Amino acid sequence: MTEERQIDTESILEKVNRVKDYQKQRKMYDYRLRKECLRKLYNNILAMKDEIMQALKQDLNKSEVESYMSEIGLVLSEITYMLKHIRKFSKIRRVKTPLAQFHSKSFEIPCAYGSVLIISPWNYPFMLAVEPIVDAVAAGNSVILKPSEISPYTSQVVEKLLNATFEKGHVEVVQGEKEECTFLLEQDFDYIFFTGSTRVGQIVMQKAAERFTPVTLELGGKCPCIVHSDADIELSARRIVFGKFLNCGQTCVAPDYVYCHNDIKDELLRAIEKEIVLQYGVTPLENDAYPRLINLKQFNVMKSFITEDNLIFGGRVDENTLKIEPTLVKSTFKDEVMQDEIFGPILPIVTYDTLDEVIDNIGAYPKPLALYIFSKSKQTQDRILKYCDFGGGCINDTIIHIAGSELGFGGLKESGMGAYHGKVGFETFTHYKSIVDKKCWLDLPMRYQPYNKLKYKLIRMFLK
Ligand code: NAD
Repeated sequence: MTEERQIDTESILEKVNRVKDYQKQRKMYDYRLRKECLRKLYNNILAMKDEIMQALKQDLNKSEVESYMSEIGLVLSEITYMLKHIRKFSKIRRVKTPLAQFHSKSFEIPCAYGSVLIISPWNYPFMLAVEPIVDAVAAGNSVILKPSEISPYTSQVVEKLLNATFEKGHVEVVQGEKEECTFLLEQDFDYIFFTGSTRVGQIVMQKAAERFTPVTLELGGKCPCIVHSDADIELSARRIVFGKFLNCGQTCVAPDYVYCHNDIKDELLRAIEKEIVLQYGVTPLENDAYPRLINLKQFNVMKSFITEDNLIFGGRVDENTLKIEPTLVKSTFKDEVMQDEIFGPILPIVTYDTLDEVIDNIGAYPKPLALYIFSKSKQTQDRILKYCDFGGGCINDTIIHIAGSELGFGGLKESGMGAYHGKVGFETFTHYKSIVDKKCWLDLPMRYQPYNKLKYKLIRMFLK
Protein backbone atom coordinates (compact mmCIF):
# COMPACT_ATOMS: atom_id res chain seq x y z
CA MET A 1 0.00 0.00 0.00
CA THR A 2 1.42 3.44 -0.91
CA GLU A 3 1.33 6.07 1.78
CA GLU A 4 -0.23 9.48 0.98
CA ARG A 5 2.39 12.23 1.08
CA GLN A 6 1.48 15.10 3.40
CA ILE A 7 1.71 18.54 1.84
CA ASP A 8 2.08 21.91 3.52
CA THR A 9 -1.35 23.29 2.64
CA GLU A 10 -1.03 26.17 5.11
CA SER A 11 2.02 27.64 3.43
CA ILE A 12 0.51 27.16 -0.03
CA LEU A 13 -2.70 28.91 1.03
CA GLU A 14 -0.70 31.78 2.47
CA LYS A 15 0.93 32.30 -0.92
CA VAL A 16 -2.37 31.98 -2.78
CA ASN A 17 -3.97 34.57 -0.51
CA ARG A 18 -1.04 36.93 -0.89
CA VAL A 19 -1.31 36.74 -4.68
CA LYS A 20 -5.04 37.42 -4.54
CA ASP A 21 -4.65 40.33 -2.10
CA TYR A 22 -1.93 41.82 -4.25
CA GLN A 23 -4.33 41.80 -7.16
CA LYS A 24 -7.06 43.52 -5.15
CA GLN A 25 -4.74 46.47 -4.58
CA ARG A 26 -4.60 47.02 -8.36
CA LYS A 27 -0.94 47.98 -7.93
CA MET A 28 0.07 46.95 -11.41
CA TYR A 29 -2.69 48.96 -13.07
CA ASP A 30 -0.04 51.42 -14.21
CA TYR A 31 1.96 49.94 -17.09
CA ARG A 32 5.06 51.88 -16.03
CA LEU A 33 5.29 49.85 -12.83
CA ARG A 34 5.02 46.66 -14.87
CA LYS A 35 7.89 47.86 -17.05
CA GLU A 36 9.98 48.50 -13.97
CA CYS A 37 9.39 44.95 -12.74
CA LEU A 38 10.29 43.46 -16.11
CA ARG A 39 13.45 45.56 -16.31
CA LYS A 40 14.43 44.25 -12.89
CA LEU A 41 13.73 40.71 -14.01
CA TYR A 42 15.92 41.22 -17.07
CA ASN A 43 18.82 42.52 -14.99
CA ASN A 44 18.48 39.78 -12.40
CA ILE A 45 18.50 37.10 -15.10
CA LEU A 46 21.72 38.55 -16.46
CA ALA A 47 23.20 38.70 -12.97
CA MET A 48 22.22 35.08 -12.30
CA LYS A 49 23.04 33.78 -15.78
CA ASP A 50 25.86 31.51 -14.60
CA GLU A 51 23.78 30.07 -11.79
CA ILE A 52 20.91 29.34 -14.18
CA MET A 53 23.29 27.67 -16.63
CA GLN A 54 24.82 25.62 -13.86
CA ALA A 55 21.37 24.38 -12.83
CA LEU A 56 20.48 23.48 -16.43
CA LYS A 57 23.73 21.56 -16.65
CA GLN A 58 22.85 19.63 -13.49
CA ASP A 59 19.29 18.85 -14.56
CA LEU A 60 19.82 18.06 -18.24
CA ASN A 61 23.52 18.46 -19.02
CA LYS A 62 22.74 21.45 -21.22
CA SER A 63 25.78 23.27 -22.56
CA GLU A 64 26.18 27.02 -22.05
CA VAL A 65 25.41 27.76 -25.69
CA GLU A 66 22.28 25.61 -25.68
CA SER A 67 21.14 27.04 -22.34
CA TYR A 68 21.50 30.59 -23.60
CA MET A 69 20.07 29.93 -27.07
CA SER A 70 17.02 27.91 -26.07
CA GLU A 71 16.24 29.15 -22.56
CA ILE A 72 17.83 32.34 -21.19
CA GLY A 73 18.13 34.24 -24.47
CA LEU A 74 14.51 33.55 -25.42
CA VAL A 75 13.25 34.90 -22.10
CA LEU A 76 15.45 38.00 -22.39
CA SER A 77 14.19 38.73 -25.88
CA GLU A 78 10.57 38.30 -24.76
CA ILE A 79 11.19 40.84 -21.98
CA THR A 80 12.82 43.23 -24.48
CA TYR A 81 9.79 42.88 -26.73
CA MET A 82 7.37 43.56 -23.89
CA LEU A 83 9.33 46.58 -22.66
CA LYS A 84 9.05 48.02 -26.14
CA HIS A 85 5.34 47.35 -26.64
CA ILE A 86 3.71 47.31 -23.22
CA ARG A 87 2.61 50.95 -23.43
CA LYS A 88 0.84 50.41 -26.74
CA PHE A 89 -0.73 47.11 -25.62
CA SER A 90 -2.05 48.72 -22.42
CA LYS A 91 -3.93 51.48 -24.24
CA ILE A 92 -7.68 51.55 -24.50
CA ARG A 93 -8.69 50.36 -27.99
CA ARG A 94 -11.31 52.47 -29.79
CA VAL A 95 -13.69 50.54 -32.08
CA LYS A 96 -16.54 51.60 -34.39
CA THR A 97 -20.08 51.99 -33.07
CA PRO A 98 -23.17 51.04 -35.12
CA LEU A 99 -25.22 54.01 -36.33
CA ALA A 100 -28.22 52.78 -34.33
CA GLN A 101 -26.31 53.68 -31.16
CA PHE A 102 -25.84 57.31 -32.17
CA HIS A 103 -24.47 59.27 -30.27
CA SER A 104 -21.90 57.14 -28.43
CA LYS A 105 -18.37 55.79 -28.60
CA SER A 106 -17.17 52.21 -28.12
CA PHE A 107 -13.92 50.97 -26.75
CA GLU A 108 -12.14 48.01 -25.13
CA ILE A 109 -10.24 48.36 -21.87
CA PRO A 110 -7.39 45.87 -21.39
CA CYS A 111 -7.59 44.50 -17.83
CA ALA A 112 -5.46 41.88 -16.14
CA TYR A 113 -7.36 38.68 -15.38
CA GLY A 114 -6.08 38.86 -11.81
CA SER A 115 -4.43 35.94 -10.06
CA VAL A 116 -2.84 33.45 -12.42
CA LEU A 117 -1.63 29.91 -11.78
CA ILE A 118 1.25 28.90 -14.05
CA ILE A 119 2.31 25.24 -14.12
CA SER A 120 5.50 24.35 -15.97
CA PRO A 121 7.32 21.18 -17.15
CA TRP A 122 10.92 20.00 -16.87
CA ASN A 123 12.26 19.98 -20.43
CA TYR A 124 12.96 23.72 -20.75
CA PRO A 125 12.64 24.31 -17.04
CA PHE A 126 13.82 27.91 -17.10
CA MET A 127 12.20 29.23 -20.26
CA LEU A 128 8.83 27.51 -19.83
CA ALA A 129 8.51 28.74 -16.26
CA VAL A 130 9.66 32.34 -16.75
CA GLU A 131 8.40 33.25 -20.22
CA PRO A 132 4.69 32.87 -19.34
CA ILE A 133 5.40 34.95 -16.22
CA VAL A 134 6.80 37.73 -18.44
CA ASP A 135 3.55 37.82 -20.45
CA ALA A 136 1.33 37.53 -17.36
CA VAL A 137 3.18 40.29 -15.49
CA ALA A 138 3.27 42.51 -18.60
CA ALA A 139 -0.52 42.30 -18.67
CA GLY A 140 -0.75 43.23 -14.97
CA ASN A 141 -1.47 39.89 -13.28
CA SER A 142 -0.08 38.43 -10.10
CA VAL A 143 1.21 34.89 -10.37
CA ILE A 144 1.75 31.61 -8.57
CA LEU A 145 4.27 29.42 -10.35
CA LYS A 146 4.43 25.66 -9.82
CA PRO A 147 7.65 24.60 -11.54
CA SER A 148 8.51 20.98 -12.26
CA GLU A 149 9.86 18.72 -9.51
CA ILE A 150 11.66 16.68 -12.16
CA SER A 151 14.17 19.47 -12.86
CA PRO A 152 14.88 20.41 -9.20
CA TYR A 153 18.06 22.45 -9.68
CA THR A 154 16.52 24.83 -12.19
CA SER A 155 13.24 25.02 -10.26
CA GLN A 156 15.19 26.20 -7.20
CA VAL A 157 17.12 28.82 -9.16
CA VAL A 158 13.89 30.06 -10.75
CA GLU A 159 12.40 30.51 -7.28
CA LYS A 160 15.48 32.40 -6.13
CA LEU A 161 15.34 34.65 -9.20
CA LEU A 162 11.64 35.41 -8.79
CA ASN A 163 11.92 36.06 -5.06
CA ALA A 164 14.76 38.47 -5.70
CA THR A 165 12.77 40.27 -8.38
CA PHE A 166 9.15 40.56 -7.36
CA GLU A 167 7.38 41.82 -4.26
CA LYS A 168 5.67 39.22 -2.12
CA GLY A 169 2.25 38.55 -3.57
CA HIS A 170 3.18 39.72 -7.05
CA VAL A 171 4.91 36.50 -8.04
CA GLU A 172 5.12 33.51 -5.68
CA VAL A 173 6.55 30.04 -6.20
CA VAL A 174 5.12 26.80 -4.87
CA GLN A 175 7.57 23.93 -5.26
CA GLY A 176 6.17 20.43 -5.23
CA GLU A 177 4.82 17.45 -7.05
CA LYS A 178 1.49 16.19 -8.28
CA GLU A 179 -0.08 16.61 -4.82
CA GLU A 180 0.86 20.29 -4.47
CA CYS A 181 -0.28 20.88 -8.04
CA THR A 182 -3.62 19.19 -7.38
CA PHE A 183 -4.12 21.30 -4.27
CA LEU A 184 -3.34 24.48 -6.23
CA LEU A 185 -5.81 23.45 -8.91
CA GLU A 186 -8.50 23.31 -6.23
CA GLN A 187 -7.99 27.01 -5.40
CA ASP A 188 -9.90 29.78 -7.10
CA PHE A 189 -7.59 31.46 -9.63
CA ASP A 190 -8.68 33.88 -12.35
CA TYR A 191 -6.61 32.14 -15.01
CA ILE A 192 -4.65 28.91 -15.38
CA PHE A 193 -1.74 28.55 -17.77
CA PHE A 194 -0.44 25.00 -18.10
CA THR A 195 2.51 23.63 -20.06
CA GLY A 196 2.98 19.86 -19.98
CA SER A 197 1.62 16.57 -21.18
CA THR A 198 -1.73 16.01 -22.85
CA ARG A 199 -2.69 13.62 -20.05
CA VAL A 200 -2.19 16.17 -17.26
CA GLY A 201 -3.62 18.90 -19.49
CA GLN A 202 -6.91 17.03 -19.41
CA ILE A 203 -6.85 16.96 -15.59
CA VAL A 204 -6.10 20.69 -15.49
CA MET A 205 -8.97 21.46 -17.83
CA GLN A 206 -11.40 19.36 -15.79
CA LYS A 207 -10.38 21.17 -12.61
CA ALA A 208 -10.65 24.56 -14.31
CA ALA A 209 -14.13 23.72 -15.58
CA GLU A 210 -15.38 23.31 -12.00
CA ARG A 211 -14.87 27.03 -11.43
CA PHE A 212 -15.25 28.28 -15.01
CA THR A 213 -11.61 29.35 -14.92
CA PRO A 214 -10.20 30.18 -18.34
CA VAL A 215 -7.18 28.09 -19.33
CA THR A 216 -4.35 28.03 -21.77
CA LEU A 217 -2.98 24.54 -22.40
CA GLU A 218 0.43 24.19 -24.01
CA LEU A 219 0.68 20.44 -24.63
CA GLY A 220 2.62 17.98 -26.75
CA GLY A 221 2.11 15.48 -29.55
CA LYS A 222 3.80 13.84 -32.51
CA CYS A 223 5.17 16.53 -34.80
CA PRO A 224 5.66 15.28 -38.36
CA CYS A 225 8.59 16.40 -40.47
CA ILE A 226 7.76 15.91 -44.12
CA VAL A 227 10.61 15.78 -46.62
CA HIS A 228 9.38 15.83 -50.20
CA SER A 229 11.22 14.49 -53.23
CA ASP A 230 12.24 17.99 -54.39
CA ALA A 231 13.71 19.12 -51.04
CA ASP A 232 17.27 20.40 -50.61
CA ILE A 233 18.49 17.22 -48.96
CA GLU A 234 21.66 18.46 -47.29
CA LEU A 235 20.06 21.55 -45.84
CA SER A 236 16.99 19.58 -44.72
CA ALA A 237 19.21 17.05 -42.96
CA ARG A 238 21.17 19.78 -41.14
CA ARG A 239 18.03 21.51 -39.92
CA ILE A 240 16.27 18.28 -38.96
CA VAL A 241 19.27 17.15 -36.90
CA PHE A 242 19.35 20.52 -35.15
CA GLY A 243 15.62 20.50 -34.28
CA LYS A 244 15.41 16.84 -33.34
CA PHE A 245 18.47 16.40 -31.14
CA LEU A 246 18.49 19.77 -29.39
CA ASN A 247 18.01 19.00 -25.70
CA CYS A 248 18.40 15.32 -26.61
CA GLY A 249 15.04 15.29 -28.38
CA GLN A 250 13.17 16.45 -25.28
CA THR A 251 11.47 19.35 -27.04
CA CYS A 252 7.72 19.62 -27.47
CA VAL A 253 8.10 20.95 -31.03
CA ALA A 254 10.95 18.63 -32.06
CA PRO A 255 10.32 16.71 -35.27
CA ASP A 256 8.89 13.50 -33.82
CA TYR A 257 9.42 11.50 -37.01
CA VAL A 258 10.69 12.08 -40.53
CA TYR A 259 8.07 11.38 -43.15
CA CYS A 260 9.98 11.29 -46.43
CA HIS A 261 9.28 10.49 -50.05
CA ASN A 262 10.42 7.00 -51.01
CA ASP A 263 12.55 8.32 -53.89
CA ILE A 264 14.88 10.31 -51.63
CA LYS A 265 14.91 8.10 -48.55
CA ASP A 266 18.43 6.67 -49.00
CA GLU A 267 19.97 10.01 -49.91
CA LEU A 268 18.26 11.70 -46.96
CA LEU A 269 19.38 9.00 -44.54
CA ARG A 270 23.00 9.36 -45.64
CA ALA A 271 22.74 13.15 -45.25
CA ILE A 272 21.19 12.90 -41.76
CA GLU A 273 23.85 10.43 -40.64
CA LYS A 274 26.57 12.75 -41.96
CA GLU A 275 25.02 15.71 -40.14
CA ILE A 276 24.77 13.83 -36.85
CA VAL A 277 28.49 13.17 -37.02
CA LEU A 278 29.23 16.77 -38.00
CA GLN A 279 27.11 18.24 -35.21
CA TYR A 280 27.66 15.72 -32.39
CA GLY A 281 30.88 13.91 -33.34
CA VAL A 282 31.59 10.24 -33.95
CA THR A 283 30.95 9.44 -30.29
CA PRO A 284 28.07 11.63 -29.12
CA LEU A 285 27.99 9.80 -25.78
CA GLU A 286 31.33 11.41 -24.97
CA ASN A 287 30.31 14.84 -26.22
CA ASP A 288 29.95 17.01 -23.12
CA ALA A 289 27.72 19.49 -24.95
CA TYR A 290 25.14 16.79 -25.72
CA PRO A 291 22.32 16.81 -23.14
CA ARG A 292 21.06 13.67 -21.41
CA LEU A 293 17.70 12.08 -20.76
CA ILE A 294 16.01 13.59 -17.72
CA ASN A 295 15.79 10.33 -15.73
CA LEU A 296 16.12 6.56 -15.85
CA LYS A 297 12.44 6.07 -16.67
CA GLN A 298 12.69 8.17 -19.83
CA PHE A 299 16.03 6.53 -20.64
CA ASN A 300 14.44 3.07 -20.51
CA VAL A 301 11.45 4.12 -22.60
CA MET A 302 13.81 5.46 -25.28
CA LYS A 303 16.00 2.37 -25.14
CA SER A 304 12.98 0.14 -25.66
CA PHE A 305 12.30 1.82 -29.02
CA ILE A 306 15.63 0.58 -30.43
CA THR A 307 15.67 -2.99 -31.75
CA GLU A 308 18.04 -5.02 -33.88
CA ASP A 309 15.45 -5.05 -36.65
CA ASN A 310 14.71 -1.36 -36.83
CA LEU A 311 18.09 0.26 -36.09
CA ILE A 312 19.53 2.29 -38.96
CA PHE A 313 22.10 4.51 -37.24
CA GLY A 314 23.31 5.29 -33.71
CA GLY A 315 21.70 3.23 -30.98
CA ARG A 316 24.50 3.19 -28.39
CA VAL A 317 23.41 4.04 -24.87
CA ASP A 318 25.09 4.78 -21.54
CA GLU A 319 22.94 4.15 -18.48
CA ASN A 320 25.47 5.80 -16.14
CA THR A 321 25.20 9.15 -17.86
CA LEU A 322 21.61 8.64 -19.08
CA LYS A 323 22.72 9.39 -22.62
CA ILE A 324 21.47 7.83 -25.84
CA GLU A 325 23.05 8.61 -29.19
CA PRO A 326 21.07 10.40 -31.86
CA THR A 327 19.39 7.31 -33.31
CA LEU A 328 17.60 6.64 -36.58
CA VAL A 329 15.11 3.76 -36.80
CA LYS A 330 13.05 2.55 -39.75
CA SER A 331 9.38 2.52 -39.00
CA THR A 332 5.76 2.34 -40.11
CA PHE A 333 2.69 3.87 -38.49
CA LYS A 334 1.92 0.51 -36.87
CA ASP A 335 5.12 0.40 -34.77
CA GLU A 336 5.23 1.03 -31.02
CA VAL A 337 7.47 4.08 -31.50
CA MET A 338 4.77 5.71 -33.65
CA GLN A 339 1.95 5.39 -31.12
CA ASP A 340 2.83 8.32 -28.83
CA GLU A 341 5.01 11.41 -28.60
CA ILE A 342 8.63 10.15 -28.41
CA PHE A 343 10.35 12.94 -26.43
CA GLY A 344 13.89 11.67 -26.84
CA PRO A 345 16.70 11.19 -29.41
CA ILE A 346 15.00 8.45 -31.44
CA LEU A 347 14.06 9.51 -34.95
CA PRO A 348 11.81 7.10 -36.87
CA ILE A 349 11.98 7.30 -40.66
CA VAL A 350 8.65 6.62 -42.34
CA THR A 351 8.16 6.80 -46.11
CA TYR A 352 5.36 7.76 -48.51
CA ASP A 353 4.64 7.76 -52.23
CA THR A 354 1.98 10.43 -52.57
CA LEU A 355 1.02 13.65 -50.79
CA ASP A 356 -2.54 12.36 -50.45
CA GLU A 357 -1.15 9.53 -48.35
CA VAL A 358 0.71 12.08 -46.21
CA ILE A 359 -2.37 14.19 -45.61
CA ASP A 360 -4.52 11.15 -44.76
CA ASN A 361 -2.01 9.62 -42.35
CA ILE A 362 -1.27 12.86 -40.49
CA GLY A 363 -5.01 13.53 -40.32
CA ALA A 364 -5.54 10.15 -38.66
CA TYR A 365 -3.37 11.22 -35.68
CA PRO A 366 -4.29 13.73 -32.96
CA LYS A 367 -3.58 17.26 -34.18
CA PRO A 368 0.15 17.95 -33.70
CA LEU A 369 1.69 20.95 -31.98
CA ALA A 370 4.04 21.53 -34.92
CA LEU A 371 4.58 20.37 -38.48
CA TYR A 372 7.52 20.85 -40.83
CA ILE A 373 7.57 20.63 -44.60
CA PHE A 374 10.77 20.49 -46.61
CA SER A 375 10.11 21.12 -50.29
CA LYS A 376 11.09 23.64 -52.95
CA SER A 377 7.64 23.59 -54.50
CA LYS A 378 5.26 26.31 -53.38
CA GLN A 379 2.38 24.12 -54.50
CA THR A 380 3.49 21.24 -52.26
CA GLN A 381 4.07 23.57 -49.31
CA ASP A 382 0.64 25.18 -49.75
CA ARG A 383 -1.10 21.83 -50.02
CA ILE A 384 0.35 20.62 -46.74
CA LEU A 385 -0.35 23.92 -44.98
CA LYS A 386 -3.93 23.87 -46.25
CA TYR A 387 -4.89 20.25 -45.64
CA CYS A 388 -3.04 19.36 -42.41
CA ASP A 389 -4.15 20.68 -39.02
CA PHE A 390 -1.40 21.63 -36.55
CA GLY A 391 -0.43 24.37 -34.08
CA GLY A 392 2.39 26.05 -36.03
CA GLY A 393 5.52 25.13 -37.91
CA CYS A 394 8.12 25.92 -40.53
CA ILE A 395 8.67 25.64 -44.24
CA ASN A 396 12.16 24.26 -44.88
CA ASP A 397 13.24 24.44 -41.25
CA THR A 398 12.37 23.06 -37.82
CA ILE A 399 11.37 24.54 -34.43
CA ILE A 400 12.48 28.13 -35.07
CA HIS A 401 8.89 29.39 -35.29
CA ILE A 402 8.78 29.44 -31.50
CA ALA A 403 11.87 31.60 -31.14
CA GLY A 404 10.36 35.02 -31.88
CA SER A 405 7.91 37.27 -30.08
CA GLU A 406 6.01 38.30 -33.21
CA LEU A 407 4.37 34.88 -33.72
CA GLY A 408 1.97 33.37 -31.22
CA PHE A 409 2.82 29.86 -30.05
CA GLY A 410 0.26 27.21 -29.20
CA GLY A 411 -1.44 24.01 -30.27
CA LEU A 412 -4.97 22.91 -30.98
CA LYS A 413 -7.16 20.17 -29.53
CA GLU A 414 -4.86 17.43 -28.16
CA SER A 415 -1.78 19.64 -28.58
CA GLY A 416 -3.34 22.49 -26.63
CA MET A 417 -5.53 25.56 -26.71
CA GLY A 418 -4.67 29.23 -26.65
CA ALA A 419 -1.24 30.70 -27.30
CA TYR A 420 1.40 33.06 -25.93
CA HIS A 421 4.59 34.99 -26.84
CA GLY A 422 4.58 38.70 -27.66
CA LYS A 423 1.29 40.44 -28.40
CA VAL A 424 -0.62 37.16 -28.34
CA GLY A 425 0.86 36.45 -24.90
CA PHE A 426 -0.20 39.84 -23.60
CA GLU A 427 -3.72 39.25 -24.94
CA THR A 428 -3.86 35.76 -23.44
CA PHE A 429 -3.46 37.19 -19.95
CA THR A 430 -5.79 40.12 -20.60
CA HIS A 431 -9.53 40.44 -20.41
CA TYR A 432 -10.89 43.20 -22.65
CA LYS A 433 -13.86 45.02 -21.13
CA SER A 434 -16.13 46.08 -23.99
CA ILE A 435 -17.75 49.43 -23.25
CA VAL A 436 -20.27 51.66 -25.03
CA ASP A 437 -20.25 55.21 -23.72
CA LYS A 438 -23.63 56.69 -24.64
CA LYS A 439 -24.14 60.45 -24.70
CA CYS A 440 -27.15 61.90 -22.91
CA TRP A 441 -28.22 64.70 -25.19
CA LEU A 442 -30.04 62.40 -27.61
CA ASP A 443 -32.27 59.39 -26.96
CA LEU A 444 -33.61 57.69 -30.08
CA PRO A 445 -36.99 56.20 -29.09
CA MET A 446 -37.29 53.34 -31.57
CA ARG A 447 -36.08 50.57 -29.21
CA TYR A 448 -38.58 51.42 -26.48
CA GLN A 449 -42.10 50.01 -26.11
CA PRO A 450 -44.78 50.50 -27.28
CA TYR A 451 -43.73 49.21 -30.69
CA ASN A 452 -45.45 50.29 -33.92
CA LYS A 453 -44.97 49.93 -37.66
CA LEU A 454 -42.73 52.97 -37.96
CA LYS A 455 -40.40 51.75 -35.22
CA TYR A 456 -40.28 48.32 -36.83
CA LYS A 457 -39.37 49.91 -40.17
CA LEU A 458 -36.63 52.00 -38.57
CA ILE A 459 -35.18 49.04 -36.70
CA ARG A 460 -35.07 47.04 -39.93
CA MET A 461 -33.35 49.94 -41.61
CA PHE A 462 -30.58 49.96 -39.01
CA LEU A 463 -30.21 46.23 -38.55
CA LYS A 464 -29.44 44.64 -41.87
P1 NAD B 1 3.67 16.72 -17.05
O1 NAD B 1 2.32 16.96 -17.62
O2 NAD B 1 3.96 15.41 -16.47
O3 NAD B 1 3.98 17.79 -15.88
C1 NAD B 1 3.76 19.18 -16.03
C2 NAD B 1 3.45 19.79 -14.68
O4 NAD B 1 2.25 19.21 -14.15
C3 NAD B 1 4.52 19.57 -13.63
O5 NAD B 1 4.73 20.79 -12.92
C4 NAD B 1 3.98 18.47 -12.72
O6 NAD B 1 4.36 18.62 -11.37
C5 NAD B 1 2.46 18.67 -12.84
N1 NAD B 1 1.73 17.39 -12.74
C6 NAD B 1 2.16 16.16 -13.14
N2 NAD B 1 1.20 15.23 -12.93
C7 NAD B 1 0.14 15.88 -12.40
C8 NAD B 1 -1.17 15.47 -11.97
N3 NAD B 1 -1.55 14.21 -12.06
N4 NAD B 1 -1.99 16.40 -11.46
C9 NAD B 1 -1.61 17.69 -11.38
N5 NAD B 1 -0.39 18.13 -11.77
C10 NAD B 1 0.48 17.26 -12.27
O7 NAD B 1 4.69 17.12 -18.22
P2 NAD B 1 6.25 16.96 -18.21
O8 NAD B 1 6.60 15.51 -18.24
O9 NAD B 1 6.85 17.82 -17.16
O10 NAD B 1 6.62 17.61 -19.64
C11 NAD B 1 6.64 16.90 -20.82
C12 NAD B 1 5.39 17.14 -21.62
O11 NAD B 1 5.16 18.53 -21.77
C13 NAD B 1 5.51 16.61 -23.03
O12 NAD B 1 4.31 15.99 -23.40
C14 NAD B 1 5.73 17.85 -23.87
O13 NAD B 1 5.32 17.74 -25.21
C15 NAD B 1 4.94 18.86 -23.14
N6 NAD B 1 5.46 20.19 -23.38
C16 NAD B 1 4.71 21.07 -24.07
C17 NAD B 1 5.22 22.32 -24.35
C18 NAD B 1 4.45 23.36 -25.11
O14 NAD B 1 4.86 24.50 -25.07
N7 NAD B 1 3.38 23.03 -25.79
C19 NAD B 1 6.48 22.65 -23.90
C20 NAD B 1 7.21 21.72 -23.20
C21 NAD B 1 6.69 20.49 -22.93
